[in-house]
Amino acid sequence: MKIPNLLFWLLIEVVFITGCQKEPIISRTSFLMDTLVEIKVVSQDRKKADEAIKAAFAELKRIETLMGQGPESEPSQLGESPQEISPELLEVLKASIWYSELTGGRFDVSIGPVTKLWDFKQEEPYELPAEDRLQAALSLVNYKGIKLAVECSTGVPPVVLLSLVNYREIKHAAGDEQWQCALKPGMKLDLGGVAKGYAVDRAIDVLLKKGVTQALVNAGGDIRAIGQSHKGKPWRIGIQHPRQDKMLTVLELKDLAVATSGDYERFFIKDGVRYHHIIDPRTGYPATGCISVTIIAPTCLEADILATAVFVAGHSEGMELIEQLEGIEGIIVAPEGEVITSSGMSVVSSNNER
Ligand code: ADP
Ligand code: MG
Repeated sequence: MKIPNLLFWLLIEVVFITGCQKEPIISRTSFLMDTLVEIKVVSQDRKKADEAIKAAFAELKRIETLMGQGPESEPSQLGESPQEISPELLEVLKASIWYSELTGGRFDVSIGPVTKLWDFKQEEPYELPAEDRLQAALSLVNYKGIKLAVECSTGVPPVVLLSLVNYREIKHAAGDEQWQCALKPGMKLDLGGVAKGYAVDRAIDVLLKKGVTQALVNAGGDIRAIGQSHKGKPWRIGIQHPRQDKMLTVLELKDLAVATSGDYERFFIKDGVRYHHIIDPRTGYPATGCISVTIIAPTCLEADILATAVFVAGHSEGMELIEQLEGIEGIIVAPEGEVITSSGMSVVSSNNER
């Protein structure tokens, strides 16, 4: 064989082998939780993958109903008298209260009365909430008014146990006790800053139980990946620049989650001021300390909470918080456009290619 011919065949072989390394990927999308959700599964068994994806979407739908704003959701049924709650709501509340505690209330799921006054779907001319109503609603916001108690089997009245428990230490503790929740008068929960991330984790759990080992669930930027992509490499996730039509960065994820909170997702601009959906519980108005926050964490629940929490905390205090937490990394775009990256970011971030 002549040398050029040999080279030709060698080249064909290389292309063929790399082609073979790409495993079949099955991808489905659906509109859920007010956003586009995509599930990708890498599997040789198309039928099994399809079934797993179907079950994962059903789980997302179940969590959406359980945690949403609709009348059938659990939060909308909570009030002053203690009510039994599901293990799912318990997990979300434990995590939320822990991070409220850690952030001095920057993240607070009792923000409901305030978020109810803001309408980011309205048409021009935009209207701001009336100041007196906003202040009245703000006085009802305080996560310390969320009382969680566990019923003791001995028949002793429920004991209020929670608020200062480290969520990261207890989250895997199994328990089949029945928990109850009561809210201070007038209080209303809004799980908008946490439910999507939690739902992504639940969907991943369903995929794992169905035998899937390589998958990605993306609920409008709240993402979790398991195993490798169809290319036999970590999953590559492009993070949108909050102000420009380009990627801020491309992350490589393997068995990790990522979530982004930004002021460009739901907003309106009135008299040159941008009003968006991430509210500072100290003022009742949109937080101004960041443009976007991307968090990488072991679970999407934590990534989702922390993206919102760091956004409200602002770029300086927010980055301190990220650095303080083990296993958490982040990228913050500050109000003037400066991009601030946490110290361990190079471990998970690749480069700026598309
Ligand atoms: P998205 O839902 O667009 O992904 P986030 O995860 O940042 O964005 O969540 C924003 C949502 O969280 C708001 O729409 C609202 O429901 C809720 N929220 C707003 N401010 C706070 C806050 N300070 N603490 C907890 N939840 C909040
Ligand atoms: Mg969030």
